[in-house]
Amino acid sequence: DYDVSEPLDTDFYRVFADIPEADRAAWRTARQFVEEIWPTVNEAWENAEYPLERVRRMGELGLLNDGVAGEGLRTLSPLAAGLVTMEVSRGDGSLGTIIAIQGGLALRTIALHGSAEQKARWLVPVERAEVLAAFALTEPLHGSDSVALETTAVPDADGWVINGTKKWIGHALGGAVTIVWARVPSDDPEHRGGAVRGFLVPQDTPGYSAEVLTGKMALRSVHQTRVTLENVRVPADAVLPGTQSFADTARVLYATRLGVAWSALGHAVACYEAALNYSQQRVQFGRPLAQSQLVQERLAQMLSDVTSMQLHCRHLAELDSRGELDPVMASMAKYTCTRKARVVASIARDMLGANGVLLENHVIRHLIDMEAVHTYEGTESIQALLIGRRVTGESAFR
Ligand code: FAD
Repeated sequence: DYDVSEPLDTDFYRVFADIPEADRAAWRTARQFVEEIWPTVNEAWENAEYPLERVRRMGELGLLNDGVAGEGLRTLSPLAAGLVTMEVSRGDGSLGTIIAIQGGLALRTIALHGSAEQKARWLVPVERAEVLAAFALTEPLHGSDSVALETTAVPDADGWVINGTKKWIGHALGGAVTIVWARVPSDDPEHRGGAVRGFLVPQDTPGYSAEVLTGKMALRSVHQTRVTLENVRVPADAVLPGTQSFADTARVLYATRLGVAWSALGHAVACYEAALNYSQQRVQFGRPLAQSQLVQERLAQMLSDVTSMQLHCRHLAELDSRGELDPVMASMAKYTCTRKARVVASIARDMLGANGVLLENHVIRHLIDMEAVHTYEGTESIQALLIGRRVTGESAFR
């Protein structure tokens, strides 16, 4: 049993040695939860089974809130939320992604942009996983340039009529509500082609349909879908009043991006631990691999990367809790951590030899899952362009 009151083996700089007890308690809860689910994570991943019972359990335990504040919510500090995401991702990246969808994107959108009635109706049930909620921004033709989304919402006498297609949307099937980002008519010349607003669309509304994307080889336990909206009619009060332009969409994405860096850290820690353990057990040429200089150098490189990721995550959590987190800093953290986690996972895979491609050794799953984590919520290149725009004052997006 691992006691999170003690510094982690992987916490070489004691980055988390002095954290407040409340944050440590949340981390401990996540750790215990991961111990519970650990024996069957690989099976669920291989069979692409959505872990509904585990998601409900995370809701009960208060693990499904990515630091979002609101009436009735069990808000975690930015540090606690990060540690929980790290720990859950260390066990199961699909569940780490579910925190990002449910307790990050969906919960945060409603908390930031919802009316009093919308918050009263949805916040607590979403945080407790009594209902599943989706965040539908990406479209088949617009991923990195989601600002160019083509889904439309047109007002009529009874409310709004929504038409369009979304892709890659988690929780959009078998859940309760999908937040659909759509373009509405606008006379403002700044909003060429219309302003972007968010709508709460119950998933049983006529004209709404979703199908699971098949053949997805990463994060297999969380399903992504293609959503079709054909003359979907919602009442006037389905619009989120705080959403007036794409800048309001971006506010949600920026806030959630740091969680992706924490998730990458969890994946990397899992791979480092597996590689260290294996190198101490596996004997070749008459001695444990751990006695080989080349193996030690690789462990040093991995631990150096993990330590660097820990410093990024902890420092930005501190800035976040003081209200000083700049969105471009979160871009830098995501850029740094997903790149490093991919490298760590790849080295670990190699260090386990052929056993590294067996699910039972808990490396190949993280390696593959990291490919998706690296891409979602803004790819490496998009984060680099956001950083580049800040440091040069020049936008390279067009
Ligand atoms: P593209 O934008 O087509 O990019 C393809 C490549 O081109 C990338 O390498 C990219 O970096 C590069 N590129 C793009 N533009 C430039 C440029 N200007 N200069 C240089 N290179 C560039 N979306 C949601 O709305 N809701 C969800 O719940 C959700 N969940 C997801 C879950 C998973 C597992 C995955 C994989 C994706 C999810 N997404 C979701 C979508 C995700 O946010 C997008 O996949 C991501 O933003 C990238 O878009 P794209 O895949 O269309 O890639």
